[in-house]
Amino acid sequence: MLKLDNHLSGRHFLHIPGPSPVPSRILRAISYQTIDHRGPEFGEFGLKVLDGIKKIFKTEQPVIIYSASGTGSWEGALVNVLNTGDKVLFYETGHFANLWRALAKRIGIEVEVVGKAGQDTWRWGVDASVIEERLRKDTQHEIKAVCVVHNETSTGMTSNIAAVRKAIDDAKHPALLLVDSVSGLGSADYCHDTWGADVTVSGSQKGLMLPPGIGFNALSPKAIEASKRSTIPKAYLAWDEILESNKTGYWPTTPSTNLMYGLHEAIDMMQTEGLDTIFARHQRLAEACRRAVAAWGLENQCLDATAYSPVLTAIVVPEGMDADVLRKHALEKFNLSLGTGLGKLKGKIFRIGHLGDCNELSLMAALSGVEMSLGAMGYKPKASGVVAAQDYLK
Ligand SMILES: *Cc1c(COP(=O)(O)O)cnc(C)c1O
Repeated sequence: MLKLDNHLSGRHFLHIPGPSPVPSRILRAISYQTIDHRGPEFGEFGLKVLDGIKKIFKTEQPVIIYSASGTGSWEGALVNVLNTGDKVLFYETGHFANLWRALAKRIGIEVEVVGKAGQDTWRWGVDASVIEERLRKDTQHEIKAVCVVHNETSTGMTSNIAAVRKAIDDAKHPALLLVDSVSGLGSADYCHDTWGADVTVSGSQKGLMLPPGIGFNALSPKAIEASKRSTIPKAYLAWDEILESNKTGYWPTTPSTNLMYGLHEAIDMMQTEGLDTIFARHQRLAEACRRAVAAWGLENQCLDATAYSPVLTAIVVPEGMDADVLRKHALEKFNLSLGTGLGKLKGKIFRIGHLGDCNELSLMAALSGVEMSLGAMGYKPKASGVVAAQDYLK
């Protein structure tokens, strides 16, 4: 077996912003015997899961469950509502917004990147007025969709999705709103219906506390209408056959039975804790983490206080320090896994995930590991971040 199989004493501190730690209740549910996915029990179970996941997205509309990671679900959103050559607006917030845009380009979508002029868009949340302004100029309605990332996991920023919807409506533009909430869902408040998203993309391994492997598309009536006219070739990712099968709780192909057991358990746990309690817990842990960062005298990658992410905090390391050397030290010495800097931020930042199955003392362990690792790098913090976080949490 892998050396990961715990020959190290004590627990592994998985503090990357996804995959997040999987609670043992969920691991146990996943270990139930696999059953016939066309048998009578499965249909009943499938309907329960399909209904339960709607409550997490806060939607009355269907939610597609793919056996795919978040990336497959990004592709699902695009291929079902667009036509080859359609123009789509992507607001740049970081590495994930860029990856989604690159995927769109590869499947024949014409992409246009927007961001606020003169601003480092990797440090500020989405400015909806930029989208509104661009859409107002598109008098021919050539832009078919606007794509934004709700929680940008590479930079630690959560954007206001309702404001983006309002911008599209204020511009009286018919573009669809496609949202990536792969790392937001289940950790940061998300309201698919009332915020007016047409497709929301998500995945299993972040706020939902599951292993990687299943992904989601939450739909709107307008998205379903668009899917009937969409001409991009698609088969496995096409919604029509899935929606038809889902009516009775089944899937056209073999679903990830055991991950669905886990999803069923996760939904149950989330409803028991209550979504609002979960979101408040994430906000509280994030605030504690930011207080630690400030005490250390380090900078938050996110400069926009209205966009601080409850999911993770991205921390800029001092000039001359390599964030990946610090991460390596934390892993080897303390069995603590921190998120790496992605894209142009490689080596410049590290990220602390405080999402999913996380509580005060798990966060404190991570902060303690970071503080000791900073010391090992020769950095002299202004003050103890651990003490600052404790003062806030006690
Ligand atoms: C993790 C993540 C993805 C990618 O999901 P995969 O499961 O790695 O394919 C997409 N967007 C965001 C914001 C993410 O955090």
